[in-house]
Amino acid sequence: MRIAVLRETAPHEHRVSLVPPTVARLIAAKHHVAVERGAGAGASFPDDTYVAAGATVASDRNALLSECDVLLAVQRPALEDIGAMRSGTAVISLVQPATAAEYLAAAASQGVSVLAMELVPRTTKAQTMDVLSSQATVAGYQAVLLGASHCARLLPMLTTAAGTIPPGKAFIVGAGVAGLQAIATARRLGAVVSAFDVRAAVKEQVQSLGASFVEAGEVSASAEAAGGYARELGQDQQTRVLAAIGAHLPQMDLVITTAQIPGKPAPRLITAAMVASMKPGSVILDAAVETGGNCELSRPGETVVHAGVTILGPVNLPSQIAQHASVMFSRNLQSLLEYLVKDGALTIALDDPIAGPMCLAHGGEVRKA
Ligand code: NAD
Repeated sequence: MRIAVLRETAPHEHRVSLVPPTVARLIAAKHHVAVERGAGAGASFPDDTYVAAGATVASDRNALLSECDVLLAVQRPALEDIGAMRSGTAVISLVQPATAAEYLAAAASQGVSVLAMELVPRTTKAQTMDVLSSQATVAGYQAVLLGASHCARLLPMLTTAAGTIPPGKAFIVGAGVAGLQAIATARRLGAVVSAFDVRAAVKEQVQSLGASFVEAGEVSASAEAAGGYARELGQDQQTRVLAAIGAHLPQMDLVITTAQIPGKPAPRLITAAMVASMKPGSVILDAAVETGGNCELSRPGETVVHAGVTILGPVNLPSQIAQHASVMFSRNLQSLLEYLVKDGALTIALDDPIAGPMCLAHGGEVRKA
């Protein structure tokens, strides 16, 4: 099978879909891998590391697109890339299905199949292919480092000749995959950590990482939806959540928000008035800013200062730790390919429990996410 690795062109995207050690594994499995020139540069994998792993490096993007059986990318390739592909080729990448109607229609009419990495089912069997989890892990770590570096105060307790500095207080809102990694990272930096989530199951996970759990009364019992995700809160519950978060914020030095509801805008959990109640020099990092934001004042890609509080809205956090984010993304892809390749060729069976939900275009048809 001829596998192609595309150079990413989206703004803020430094990751690469396959890293050299994964390339070597695929070549050992008798596949051919071609990598677009410079594809790994943003993740600190120069072209010669791909050549050493057995790949060829291609300068002509259109030739690469037209000669492969499977095209791998982090972000979905551009519309014009689809036009250069042969019928029967499969593209595997993040797709952002909500904004991909035109892209999927073009792929279907070209006979190109599209598999969306964000739609890997979150089942035990597919865990090794789950890029949402692997990239959220990187995002949670980077969120804390970035937030801490903007904070006017230290996080660890220090006893020095210049006096004793008490430990900083970090608060993590939303304790899913990214939030749990943020808790662990803030603890490693020496902060006293607390966290909040609407799902009942999370309390024990938060406490097992050495953080305290902020309670919001009777909220958790009905807040869990199918698949372990959260659901939108009713007005009563939302009021209780805001009160619990609002009472906690004035003592905090660093706040990381990661709360998300699949398919919906991120829940609004920190208002401008709540920001104004915080100590000057504190930081809020809104890791949900790309889906609308958990903080009323955060803006994608911008730093806002309000009442002395810095509000960060970073976009594409995993890409800021591009090498390890790519290593993890690449292992997820390798695992998916090993699962989908039968007798040396990619096999997309629409009734397959993993390929079925991921497949958004196949056999000339667009499929629903
Ligand atoms: P996510 O990114 O959709 O959401 C992040 C967190 O925000 C979640 O914990 C959610 O409960 C929380 N949240 C939503 N609304 C909130 C609100 N109003 N206030 C506070 N918090 C709020 O979730 P995720 O991190 O992708 O994963 C969520 C869960 O999915 C995991 O904890 C786990 O149970 C499950 N999961 C399963 C697998 C698997 O089985 N392979 C893999 C990954 C995740």
